[in-house]
Amino acid sequence: MASDSAVRGLILVIEDEPAIAEVIRMNLVNAGYGVHVEGDGEAGLAAARSLRPAAVILDVGLPGIDGIEVCRRMRASQDWTPVLFVTARDDEVDRIVGLELGADDYVTKPFSPRELAARVSSVLRRTRGVAEASAGLQVGEVRLEPAERRAFVADVEVSFTATEFDLLAFLMRRPGRVFSREQLISEVWGYSSFAANRTVDVHIAQVRSKLGDSSPIRTVRGVGYAVDVPRSAGR
Ligand code: CA
Repeated sequence: MASDSAVRGLILVIEDEPAIAEVIRMNLVNAGYGVHVEGDGEAGLAAARSLRPAAVILDVGLPGIDGIEVCRRMRASQDWTPVLFVTARDDEVDRIVGLELGADDYVTKPFSPRELAARVSSVLRRTRGVAEASAGLQVGEVRLEPAERRAFVADVEVSFTATEFDLLAFLMRRPGRVFSREQLISEVWGYSSFAANRTVDVHIAQVRSKLGDSSPIRTVRGVGYAVDVPRSAGR
């Protein structure tokens, strides 16, 4: 019996095309999730607030307020629930990225529903994962408290999406090591992807814009990214 009490958590699907919503719903139910479907942005936003889902699958093209506006309003109200966008075209990805909405992942139609369910699992694994090390991490002025999933720059708190936080924490735990985009996708996102370069670059850009001059992330041209070894550290 599938219900909201399904063990793996409740996923809110905001999708106006009933046939697509149903395929997504069936695949998520088969994967062990509870699923709640809404067909427009206003109802979806209300459901996000009242149901507190584990993650939201959000179609960009919706009647009324579109998916981008739904995500923008969630983030504006400090709701950092993982959001996976479903886009119809690449230019929609550009809009999502350009607006720095704090999306956690994207799939472009047509997509494999199984792949979508796998992406949901991956996001939830990351956001719920037991912290690798609960001790605080510090590089320069940037400090992370992984157990609480909080980040600070010179003691001023910074809000990150789950993915941004995990990416930064992964690099800060391994100062001085350079990781390719493909390695980061595999290690942080938990899957391999053809879109690796772009996805990683976008999230790195978002982390950097939030950290400003304090960002410890260095671009290693032609290779990938690294966090510099803290200058004051003796090793
Ligand atoms: Ca649509």
